[in-house]
Amino acid sequence: MPTLVMKFGGTSVANLDRIRRAAKRVGVEVAKGYDVIVIVSAMSGKTNELVGWVNETSPLFDAREYDAVVSSGENVTAGLMALTLQEMQIPARSWQGWQVPLLTTSAHGQARIEDIPTENINAKFGEGMKVAVVAGFQGLSPEGRITTLGRGGSDTTAVAFAAAFDAERCDIYTDVDGIYTTDPRICQKARKLDRIAFEEMLELASLGAKVLQTRSVEMAMRYKVKLRVLSSFEEQSDEAGTLVCDEDEIMESNVVAGVAYSRDEAQMTLLSVADRPGIAALIFGKLSDAGVNVDMIVQDISEDGRTNMTFSLPTDQVQRADIAMKEIRGNELNFDKLIVDSDVAKVSVVGIGMRSQSGVAAKMFKILSDEGVNIKVITTSEIKISVLVDRKYMELAVQALHDAFELEKAA
Ligand code: ADP
Ligand code: ASP
Ligand code: MG
Repeated sequence: MPTLVMKFGGTSVANLDRIRRAAKRVGVEVAKGYDVIVIVSAMSGKTNELVGWVNETSPLFDAREYDAVVSSGENVTAGLMALTLQEMQIPARSWQGWQVPLLTTSAHGQARIEDIPTENINAKFGEGMKVAVVAGFQGLSPEGRITTLGRGGSDTTAVAFAAAFDAERCDIYTDVDGIYTTDPRICQKARKLDRIAFEEMLELASLGAKVLQTRSVEMAMRYKVKLRVLSSFEEQSDEAGTLVCDEDEIMESNVVAGVAYSRDEAQMTLLSVADRPGIAALIFGKLSDAGVNVDMIVQDISEDGRTNMTFSLPTDQVQRADIAMKEIRGNELNFDKLIVDSDVAKVSVVGIGMRSQSGVAAKMFKILSDEGVNIKVITTSEIKISVLVDRKYMELAVQALHDAFELEKAA
């Protein structure tokens, strides 16, 4: 039997009615003759609630226990989905990550998938089971502990299953009807794309477009998984939604394919650190050991052998970073002051067309300056330009860039 992977995100399984609606979609594919692997997220809001409980209990939590708690939301929806399918006379059962077992590294909170043995689930398909409902986002470490794959990780669970089971397609059902030129919730003119290149989606995801988790795109690209994003709220044809595909499967595209933003950024500056070999290694080594994901980095030119070091990080890691820097202050590292700005956001434009067209950065900076938006930090790569701005200007910046690059118009 051909296999199909269908993933339902939080809003698509937010209550029993929605689970029934999703189960009906699954029934349609079963009727076509597919063996279906359904990956479910927790009900929307549930994971946030669980994360909140962990933080309230223990601000510098043991990540193994964080995973034990936050993985639980998916267990509920997996069981409910299997029950709903059974009520519809569709042979189904649920699987938690450890039962599959979905084997991961032991990097708790952001574990990577290492292997998905297919024997257990295939044996059940062989016995007549039509749907395997798998709890997304969770796995099993070599030490036998429950792990999670990072926020939004059910997308990655889905793509990994599609690769492991050689599925015909991996359909990601969500609360929008595809991938847009930017988040349709903050820009009314956002346009749905029929197709988007893996590389562009990879950048958009890593720069904050949470419609797909970055690793899911990475994995789909590597294992050539046919990946589609579509709405669970509408009747769907086989052509619906957005297909993430190779660059050469797209006829024409705009120079800028999309605009992404990441709201919860913070900026830290170490004032007056010594400008000598080994300082950056010391600072960023310490931050990495503390589990801080540093993104943009700027080092000023030095004066009298001293310089300022600025970096950006997710707001929820500021406390860890602050403690880490204070630990090395005075003995290994001297600095005058640590300045934290937790009210910044990152806005980025992405497009593979930038490889061959210059002037995109200049245009971006002009658009922002015309809107009176001050740029704090800039980073670029071959196909993206990112700026850090005050958070209050984030939506304005996204909309202005979307307008000025005319993303509402197809190429
Ligand atoms: P799910 O719970 O189904 O995994 P998510 O909330 O993780 O859904 O992702 C879907 C959301 O991603 C949308 O509601 C939308 O607000 C947001 N989003 C951000 N950027 C984009 C984009 N470029 N295209 C579509 N959706 C986007
Ligand atoms: N429930 C998890 C989260 O909210 C995983 C997911 O939905 O993909 O991050
Ligand atoms: Mg998601």
